[in-house]
Amino acid sequence: MELDVPTLLMMLVLTPVLIALAMVTVAWGERHEGLQFWAAGLGINALAYVFFGLRNDISPPISILLGNGLTSLALSYLLAAVLRFQRRALHWPMLLLPPLLLSFALLGLLDNFPLRVVVANLVLAGQTAAILQALYVRRSSTAGRGVALVMAGTALQLLVLLLRAGSGITGALLPQSFLQPGLLQNLTFLSTFAASLITSLGFVFMTKERADEANRRLAALDELTGVANRRSIIAALDRDVGRAIRTRESMAVMMVDIDHFKAVNDTHGHLAGDQVLRCVVDVIQHRIRAQDIVGRYGGEEFLVVLTDTSAQGAQQLAEQLRAAVEATHCTYTCASISVTVSVGVFGGRLEPGDSWDQLIHAADLALYRAKQGGRNRVELAQSLG
Ligand code: GH3
Ligand code: MG
Ligand code: MG
Repeated sequence: MELDVPTLLMMLVLTPVLIALAMVTVAWGERHEGLQFWAAGLGINALAYVFFGLRNDISPPISILLGNGLTSLALSYLLAAVLRFQRRALHWPMLLLPPLLLSFALLGLLDNFPLRVVVANLVLAGQTAAILQALYVRRSSTAGRGVALVMAGTALQLLVLLLRAGSGITGALLPQSFLQPGLLQNLTFLSTFAASLITSLGFVFMTKERADEANRRLAALDELTGVANRRSIIAALDRDVGRAIRTRESMAVMMVDIDHFKAVNDTHGHLAGDQVLRCVVDVIQHRIRAQDIVGRYGGEEFLVVLTDTSAQGAQQLAEQLRAAVEATHCTYTCASISVTVSVGVFGGRLEPGDSWDQLIHAADLALYRAKQGGRNRVELAQSLG
């Protein structure tokens, strides 16, 4: 199939420019997640193709130097976008080194077509590989699948660049001019077009997926203490109840309530009370295992969900927590505030049909007994009943 080179070039200029404009419109003034750098990369890439396209209208050395130098600069910006997205440091001298070196190298190779093709494509391939590597090493810390799209598009681009470098060495396939039609030129134009679409969409998805993830996390956490909020601790409990019924493992919950907390607020003020809430959460979090979850159930009440834990195990842990809170001095400005907690514990095996609200109810009843018994105590629920 014979494709029209000027049309292809126009596509290669227009597409990234339009995507870049869309990105700038959306990302303007927003949190810098690298979108602006990505848009800059696309814009510079489009400019590079303008210079490639003007090969017959301007002096060839200018077209070659600016075309290749700007393509390399565009890749530097795309790498900067990825690094910025990953919140890694940007070393601009290092990032700008490839385009500078390439421009100098091409200056000396203007009359050596095959070597020029090899050098240019190898440098661009190296930069593309660097982008791929940066994405690959941090892929697991990136939310969602956008990163897979960017990697796929970048890998495609890398493949074509290596193919071009290879055909520069063997002399096969490569036309004497960029504007000459041919299989490799068509492949280059079409894959560049596809890669810039796929990678740009992927990068936009990456930023969107990160924002979604942050929102999800925010919606699941208690603002004051940073632990699970009521909704997500109940969801976690519900999940664990289902699992405990299936696996026949015992599980436990603790309802932890700060004693006479109203008095803390009355004596030291609400901000001090807030600080005490954080302080008690800290004590709890440092003593539970990684698989256990603590959540804020109500004002000064915390629910701890303990997987694979017997009633005795939970009672022991609750006693340790109680003693640890008693021994802790929470500080707010200059005041040192000590509080105690009462804990209601339920633990045991569950039967099909048991539900999360029964566990909470049982722990609540035990907590009530602990309060009645004088506070600063642990009470174990007798049954789910
Ligand atoms: P008890 O030993 O019976 O549990 O007594 P208490 O004073 O701890 O219990 P009560 O239910 O009477 O009071 C709870 C207090 O917790 C009242 C409420 O103002 C306070 N509180 C609830 N949420 C917050 C909060 O986010 N920050 C602060 N500072 N106080 C809170
Ligand atoms: Mg209380
Ligand atoms: Mg309470």
